[in-house]
Amino acid sequence: MPTIFTKIINREIPADIVYEDDQALAFRDINSQAPTHVLVIPKKEIASLSELEDGDAALMGHLFVVVRKVAADLGLENGYRAVINCGTDGGQTVDHIHIHVLGGRSLSWPPG
Ligand code: AMP
Repeated sequence: MPTIFTKIINREIPADIVYEDDQALAFRDINSQAPTHVLVIPKKEIASLSELEDGDAALMGHLFVVVRKVAADLGLENGYRAVINCGTDGGQTVDHIHIHVLGGRSLSWPPG
């Protein structure tokens, strides 16, 4: 099912886009939880980690390369956290798989 992220991909709603290629998009989270908080998403509509198929392996690998590029471009040289929330217990609220990239401050562990 299309989500609000599909509308961002299709430029139907605005977003602060920091990276784009043929397979992926990265944009700033509207409810930032750190000085830098970006979401890296595939253009393919995949609802969650639970919906991944064998054929998505290269795409997911690509997304993590995008994470590295975005983190470098945004100056997160002290490190950052890459997080994928999955399902209700994982705290997922948008059913389009996305990698949160959080940085710019020291992050605590474990998460809540
Ligand atoms: P999650 O809770 O892991 O599913 O993360 C979804 C994220 O999407 C949340 O951090 C939201 O703040 C973010 N979000 C929702 N709508 C938008 C939007 N229109 N533009 C940017 N980020 C959004």
